[in-house]
Amino acid sequence: MDYIKVDNKTGGKYIEDYRKLTLEYSISVGGLEKYFEGLKNGVLYASKCKSCGSIYYPPRSSCGKCGSSDIVWIELGKEGTLLTFTEINVKPATHSHYDDYIIGIGSFNGVKVLGLVEAKYDELKIGMKIRYEIVVREPENYYIIVFTPI
Ligand SMILES: [Zn+2]
Repeated sequence: MDYIKVDNKTGGKYIEDYRKLTLEYSISVGGLEKYFEGLKNGVLYASKCKSCGSIYYPPRSSCGKCGSSDIVWIELGKEGTLLTFTEINVKPATHSHYDDYIIGIGSFNGVKVLGLVEAKYDELKIGMKIRYEIVVREPENYYIIVFTPI
């Protein structure tokens, strides 16, 4: 293997070196503890600005419209409506080990939520009633939102 390569366009020399990196990071929940506690307890929350009434999902700890940090939490009901859905056949590298899957957007208390749909594609219809649940996906060990038809 030739260690030093030549770029076809520029003629410049370069080396290629491939290594696997592990990335560890932490994300501040800064004012959004309620949302993450909700995930753990199977409940979704949106945030609502007390000043101007804007609703955010995913929630925000301050309002993007008026800048207020005075928010209230809205618990989203478990039952909603399927607004749209699609089957994912070409998956990102992070999901390449999964079979094809369906994602959808549901409306819960008027708030749009993205989730994985557990149903056969042919059985789904826009406008149908759905329920969400929050499950821990393995082996990644993170929370995902799953919709199932009612
Ligand atoms: Zn606001």
